Amino acid sequence: KPIVLLGGGAREHAMAWKLTRDGATVHVLPGNGGIPNSHPDISATDFPAIQRFCETHGVKLIVVGPEAPLAAGVTDYFAGSDIRVFGPSRAGAVLESSKVWSKDFMRRHGVATALSWQYRSDKLTEARAKATELNGQVVVKYDGLAAGKGVYVCSSIEEAQAALDDLQQQHTGWFSFLLEEKLIGPEISIIGVTDGNRVRLLAPSQDHKQLLAGDQGPNTGGMGAYCPVPFCDDNVLAAIRTSIVDPTLRGLQNEQFDFKGFLYFGIMLTEQGPKLLEYNVRLGDPEAEVLLPALESSLLELIEATLDGKLQQTVVRQRRGSYVGVVLASGGYPAAQFPTGFPITGLDQLHPSILAFHGATRQQDGELVTTGGRVMVLVGHGEELEDAVAHVYREAEKVKFQDVYIRTDIGQRPEPTLAA
Ligand code: ATP
Repeated sequence: KPIVLLGGGAREHAMAWKLTRDGATVHVLPGNGGIPNSHPDISATDFPAIQRFCETHGVKLIVVGPEAPLAAGVTDYFAGSDIRVFGPSRAGAVLESSKVWSKDFMRRHGVATALSWQYRSDKLTEARAKATELNGQVVVKYDGLAAGKGVYVCSSIEEAQAALDDLQQQHTGWFSFLLEEKLIGPEISIIGVTDGNRVRLLAPSQDHKQLLAGDQGPNTGGMGAYCPVPFCDDNVLAAIRTSIVDPTLRGLQNEQFDFKGFLYFGIMLTEQGPKLLEYNVRLGDPEAEVLLPALESSLLELIEATLDGKLQQTVVRQRRGSYVGVVLASGGYPAAQFPTGFPITGLDQLHPSILAFHGATRQQDGELVTTGGRVMVLVGHGEELEDAVAHVYREAEKVKFQDVYIRTDIGQRPEPTLAA
């Protein structure tokens, strides 16, 4: 069964790997040098080119990896044709693309989340007063694309005022932003497949966004992830369902969203219970790289059941044990510039149980070379989380390229004590 997968990172490699195991013939647009069946000449947002490709190759199903094609309306583009797209319409993608809109949605439907105040850029003085009143314990969020620089987590009045100064300097014209109460607690990712009426959840996972061990240093696209999360037990999951997932689904139904795709809940477990930080309308990266190997059920069947309106009859089974994914990054990442083009060796030495999902590699003169920051994700499995951690780190030493950087504490955060 031929299908098209849009995107070109390690997440898409994991998706292609899983869908291939499920029996599909997967064409990845544009893919990358490490993903079989990649088509580097077709961009994930060039809808006419994607349509021509589908027609030529008899493809009737498109699965979307990243946010960009969804926000650009890939689902709307193919609506009414005989090509089905797994992923929300542009209207649904606004849950991720506008922080103000999604916060209003959470409020309308009683989804547990941080208190927040919405401002327009002509109301900075009021925002400054509010931030001071809250003693600077606030998070400032720009409403729009800000290349990962739109969120300021503040710990003092000075920091909050500096964040608002920066917001003012960075953006000309008028804009909206949020001031949120700052929450405290461990963060987890809960990702489900939904048809807008029901949801099937994958395992709880946790990523590691900062560059350095101990959650220090600059934010990155993610340096690693693991699943399941031991402290996210049935009680915690039940609370998440009641206070976040169920109200979200009621909201999607009430507002008649046609939402068929992955829905990601970024959650903080606070002393007052789980609170939703954000929605994403896609699988997380690097969460997907551990969640898909952990998924025993067929992803292809899950996707088809969703599109056929049969999610209700579908059960999701997980494999036993833990999965840990560590990113092999280029030295210098996440700076704006760093050298790439280095040959990668040692992949053929890896233990057969290790999965290597390529994020930024290319074949050049018969050699595999680096092309970007997050070069690849190695995923290991173990009966216990510690076993998976030990296994994947041991194997990661075998893969070599110049200036390779690996964060050393993936899957090893100290277990938090959660309020009862
Ligand atoms: P992402 O890269 O995770 O998609 P984003 O730019 O969409 O990030 P958010 O997820 O809303 O923005 O926030 C980024 C991070 O800021 C969160 O992962 C969390 O660590 C922190 N954060 C956001 N909101 C709050 C809050 N209310 N209290 C404390 N920390 C917060």
